[in-house]
Amino acid sequence: MDTNEKLALLGSAARFEVAGQRQSVTVRPGPSGALCVGDTVGDASGSLLRVLQSSYCEQDCAYCPLRRSNDPNRAAFSPDELAGAFANQWQRGRVSGLMLSSATDGGPDGSMERMLDTVRILRTRHEFDGYVHLKVLPGAGASLIEEAARLADRLSLNIEVPGPEYLDGLQTGKRWQEDILRPLQRLRELDLAGEIRSGITGQLLVGVTSPGGVSASDRALAGGSRWLRREFDVRRVHYGSFTPAAGTPLAEAAAPDPRRRARLYQWDWLATHYQYADNELDAAFDHAGRLPLALDPKLAVTIALPEDRPVEVNSATYEDLLRVPGIGPVSARRIVDLRHLGALRDLQDLKVLGVVASRAAPFVLLNGKKPPEAPASLQRIKRALRAMEPQPVQLSLWPELL
Ligand code: SF4
Repeated sequence: MDTNEKLALLGSAARFEVAGQRQSVTVRPGPSGALCVGDTVGDASGSLLRVLQSSYCEQDCAYCPLRRSNDPNRAAFSPDELAGAFANQWQRGRVSGLMLSSATDGGPDGSMERMLDTVRILRTRHEFDGYVHLKVLPGAGASLIEEAARLADRLSLNIEVPGPEYLDGLQTGKRWQEDILRPLQRLRELDLAGEIRSGITGQLLVGVTSPGGVSASDRALAGGSRWLRREFDVRRVHYGSFTPAAGTPLAEAAAPDPRRRARLYQWDWLATHYQYADNELDAAFDHAGRLPLALDPKLAVTIALPEDRPVEVNSATYEDLLRVPGIGPVSARRIVDLRHLGALRDLQDLKVLGVVASRAAPFVLLNGKKPPEAPASLQRIKRALRAMEPQPVQLSLWPELL
């Protein structure tokens, strides 16, 4: 296999590594290798070459096409070869950064050493000073994690499951304490010391059910994300979506509804950018721990907290405005800053300020009056709730409108 063929194969194999929330992934087999466009680097976006160092694996994770008992086409780069291939793409202006991961080929430390060699060659021989996102493999030793922090900009660890109870059934061979928590703790220490330039991220896998029938609910995944941010200062938790793969024990399993992943990202956004208490955020889940697919989590939380509404837009605090569906940080700030110019009287006034008026209408008062569009908006919400099976929350808005 020549280098370009390896780039295509190992770029495609890296497609399960989530690089950003709003990824637009183009996998181009052939001479260009595999490009992932859309990872956020600080405030800028760059084109990342997303690739594996090796797809040979000693582990047997039930969900993974690269598991050792499967027989896919496999390949591996030497550090020289991958560094040269990347430098070639970079010098032609085709990529501006690298996201490098690997299957477990030679143990976690052996795999990490080869990835580190690749980045070291890039930094020295090829004088590449751009962005590198390096995956730390579960079980990697502390000294290798420290070297990774010196060489790369961002480090991440694929935790995949939100707790040890999910590991065994998925046959990952990973130990929660030694392979997951210990590297996370070292990453956190380095990050707190300011030694990881772009911080650390994590990844959880949505919608995978072990052959024994164990599956992490949305509530468990969202709780895992919250735990990672709080305990380990993980800046962002990415959600990968389980994809049934031929040759695995889960080949016939159903893929999760793609909206699940989107709803989890929205819940994370609420948890990190809005001032909801934990128990309020928990109100977004139904009795089975699911986020409703038909409603975004902010709407679900708002419906579950009837005491918070309606909100009088002309006198509410910034914080109270922020809790209204359809009002975000920018529009809430505009309302607070500009309403002294005159009372906001109808939905058109809200639209001008950037509010999604149809979403906000059921939950606001404008100069003491309910907006006229509120009943229609309520009907839409009620229809969406009825479509959910089983119904996760009891809709109880203003009694006179129902
Ligand atoms: S360690 Fe598990 S998830 Fe990673 S490549 Fe190997 S089998 Fe796949």
